[in-house]
Amino acid sequence: MKNLAPIGIKKAIILFLVIFSNLSVSCTHAQNNSKEEKGQNNKIAICAHRGYWLANEVNKAQNSIASLKAAQAINVWGSEFDIHLTSDDIIIVNHDQTLGGLDIWENPWSSFKTMKLSNGETPATLSEYLAAGKEKNTILVCELKPQKNSEKEILLADMAIKEIKKHELYDPKKIIFISFSYNICKHIAANAPNFMVQYLSGNKTPDELYTDGIMGLDYHYLILLNNPDWIKRAHELGMSVNAWTVNKKEDIERVIGLGVDCITTDYPLIVRELLSGKEITP
Ligand code: MG
Repeated sequence: MKNLAPIGIKKAIILFLVIFSNLSVSCTHAQNNSKEEKGQNNKIAICAHRGYWLANEVNKAQNSIASLKAAQAINVWGSEFDIHLTSDDIIIVNHDQTLGGLDIWENPWSSFKTMKLSNGETPATLSEYLAAGKEKNTILVCELKPQKNSEKEILLADMAIKEIKKHELYDPKKIIFISFSYNICKHIAANAPNFMVQYLSGNKTPDELYTDGIMGLDYHYLILLNNPDWIKRAHELGMSVNAWTVNKKEDIERVIGLGVDCITTDYPLIVRELLSGKEITP
């Protein structure tokens, strides 16, 4: 798995889960009744996935400054975004490893800075994104994408923390870190121990994460539906649990019932409606 490109890791997880989800969810549902009651009594945070990019004014520009501002405008708890390093070590906000057909890792910032997103914005550097992020209280959920080798991953993490400090956002109440890279998670947990770090890949138990100082899990919602005891155990250890990326109404209702701490979604207003006031806001 370690040699797969990051998009390959996510696709492999989703493919596996789609194949087995119907059977597994029906098997675990009956066991979840007590947790559903717990979830209904607890408040849950909403995290806008790549910003609130489905807001009318954003024209579906994921990870744009406009999508961040749209998330801030609806006052959700958090707004997630993704970062990569260009070949000349500039941090760029984008989900995929490619942008405009070019590999971000293999091309300099100058190749990307005049490109246009679907709303007319140019791609943001981390610095530009943070400048917009600090205008409001919405928590910045910074996803550090796996890079081409472990050295580049550490460089990305260290440079991101430096930039966050420069923008006076180096505060656990203002930013959290998430990654599919265990290397990145361990590095940030060791070097920024007061901050929430959540691992994304879904292949570690809460105890394994806790042992390595990683105090959160942010797993695909089907993994959490299949392993409801992980949520209980994580909470016993004082860890946070987030579920990604929950978009369908029936899935959102199931995940609310699990008693997670946060739900990442492309549809924050639907999650808000289903939470019926039991929502944690910034
Ligand atoms: Mg992401």
